[in-house]
Amino acid sequence: MKLIRTLHESINEETSLIIFCENKILYDQNEKSYIFKPKDLNLKEINGPFLAIAKVNDRYIYVINIDSKDKILGIFMNPGTTNFIDLINILAFFDTESFLIAARASILNNWHLKNTYCNYCGNINKFDLEEGAFKCECNNALNYPSISPCIITLIYDDERILLGRNKFFPENMYSTLAGFIEAGESAEQALIREVSEEVNVEVSQIEYHSSQSWPFPSQLMLGYKCKYQKGEIVLNDKELEDARWFNIQELPNIPPDTSISGRLIRSYIEDHLKL
Ligand SMILES: [Zn+2]
Repeated sequence: MKLIRTLHESINEETSLIIFCENKILYDQNEKSYIFKPKDLNLKEINGPFLAIAKVNDRYIYVINIDSKDKILGIFMNPGTTNFIDLINILAFFDTESFLIAARASILNNWHLKNTYCNYCGNINKFDLEEGAFKCECNNALNYPSISPCIITLIYDDERILLGRNKFFPENMYSTLAGFIEAGESAEQALIREVSEEVNVEVSQIEYHSSQSWPFPSQLMLGYKCKYQKGEIVLNDKELEDARWFNIQELPNIPPDTSISGRLIRSYIEDHLKL
């Protein structure tokens, strides 16, 4: 698979399509798939240009945004099982490649929508094919997709780990702490600041683990582990509804392994139990 960014005026029958409407993705629950062929859909009222985001075996994958959910399904599709849902509810069940394409489709769909018109003069932007970026003749500034780096960290203290939850989490679900990196900060500085702001705790021995795209709306999560140093938990900035220490033998519900938070927690437990 090759990742590309380009606009085409038309699409052919062999292409794959990913459809968004009001930030929700069209999903076939029977096939467990968000990829559709033109024959599955009613594309009569859908006009280009179409944004190609990847190429697999010479076939393009496009992401298309539509204004109305009505009439998008072709006559052979079942509206009872194929409908628009929040990407976050299905992302956790995808394999690595499906995760990448779905995340990319969501991020680039929003980028396309925000860059149809120039931010300065309001004219329709052009697409620079060489750069894969939108631009307007009024200033020739190139508008690439932007990704916001965030840190996400597991805080450990021997047999216990510090997890938090915000009010949007499912009941009894706790996760590792996360936050945006401020302009000028390193990831490690952001980690120390976020942990202090969110739970009032000092940490040390910051160690990089892995990263993950998180398209809500367009973060790159840089995953770390760090050691608890000192401080009592205080919810300083009200970002979290609750935060507490959990013994690794008595954990609440935690995110699945497909999310970086789940992987950080499980890898710490596995490493710890080997000791
Ligand atoms: Zn302009």
